[in-house]
Amino acid sequence: MAGGANSEPLLDVRDLTTRFFTEEGRVNAVESVDFTVHDGEVFGVVGESGSGKSVTALSVMDLVESPGEIVAGEVWYRDADLAGEMADDHPKAVDGDAVDLRRVPSEVRRSLRGSSVSMIFQDPMSSFNPSITVGEQIAEAVEVQRRASANPRSTRSRTQGFGLGSMVASTMESHERAIELLDEVGIPDPEARAEEYPHQYSGGMLQRAMVAQALAGEPDLLIADEPTTALDVTIEAQILNLLADLQDDLGMAIVLITHDLGVIARTCDRLGVMYAGEIVEHGSLADVFDSPVHPYTQGLLGSIPDLDDPAPRLNPIEGNVPSLLAAEMDDRCYFADRCPKAMEECLDKPPSFAVDGTGVAGRTDPTGTSATGTDGRKADTTAHTAKCYLADHEYGQARALPEGYFGGSDGGTDT
Ligand code: SF4
Repeated sequence: MAGGANSEPLLDVRDLTTRFFTEEGRVNAVESVDFTVHDGEVFGVVGESGSGKSVTALSVMDLVESPGEIVAGEVWYRDADLAGEMADDHPKAVDGDAVDLRRVPSEVRRSLRGSSVSMIFQDPMSSFNPSITVGEQIAEAVEVQRRASANPRSTRSRTQGFGLGSMVASTMESHERAIELLDEVGIPDPEARAEEYPHQYSGGMLQRAMVAQALAGEPDLLIADEPTTALDVTIEAQILNLLADLQDDLGMAIVLITHDLGVIARTCDRLGVMYAGEIVEHGSLADVFDSPVHPYTQGLLGSIPDLDDPAPRLNPIEGNVPSLLAAEMDDRCYFADRCPKAMEECLDKPPSFAVDGTGVAGRTDPTGTSATGTDGRKADTTAHTAKCYLADHEYGQARALPEGYFGGSDGGTDT
């Protein structure tokens, strides 16, 4: 899939931080996450369960519910018309053609959902109302978009918005469009299927219907959270091909969240690897897959079976994802107790992003644009970077932590 890497980003997420305030204590679910997505690009977010991928997506969409709270960060979305609307009343929320969605009224954010930015979820069954036909629910999404388009660019229309969730009656026109959408996502006999209820669809069909619903607003950006997790490999391939075709046809950008590196390899232009609520490595698909820097990324890639050279045993990453309870998080690299290359400095403090020129000390930043260091922590979100000391100096056996330093490990992980 092609990406427009030289254009201004469509989405620019900066320092996004989300916490959950539970009875057990504060959970640092998403910690200072940065990434960009450009027009027509597919950006993958990969990591184990519990690494913060889904909460990151929900935070971008402003769908985090209590006891969760987005406590910091900026979500810049490029929309010249919206920037023009917001410039007078919310000047700090505007920078050129981009708008910081964290600083505009919540009604404005809501009005963008489904129209400018859509999301598809892991479990389509829980995303559809079981008592309303699939066609009617998609028609409602079409109607929301149609009404918003009728008053497209006025603050009044946005703040009185027609966001999804405000029940609107569909018209014959929107119903016909819903059938078209079902047809476009490959649902056979879409007219008849439109009259059926969610429980009458198979998992793959309902996933396709959810894609159709997400496309109803003709979004510029689609966030797909584990869209194929519950599907068998054949249906998974169909859904991924469908997303690729739609992305090519419509020029949408996609943020694809998955725990499956195979899905990333087949679909993404760039990716971020998440661990313990942070993006620990990001770069182009070739950068990260061919020259992984972070030992966690190396571990994920090393645990994929190679069909051309099947090994007798896979190499899982030992240990488990850490607790994200603030009280239980040590002030060190959060991967240290699972890292086969952990060194003394890894215990000092969490490493900040560093540029991987060629991965060791003395190497230069090939882009000449990236910043590094704990003080100026803002990373260039298009460069290949890793949040690991090995990004700027070599592994030193002499500084390696002694075996058993963390008291051993208790198992592997799935990827
Ligand atoms: S900073 Fe140290 S412990 Fe953390 S991933 Fe890098 S080498 Fe391993």
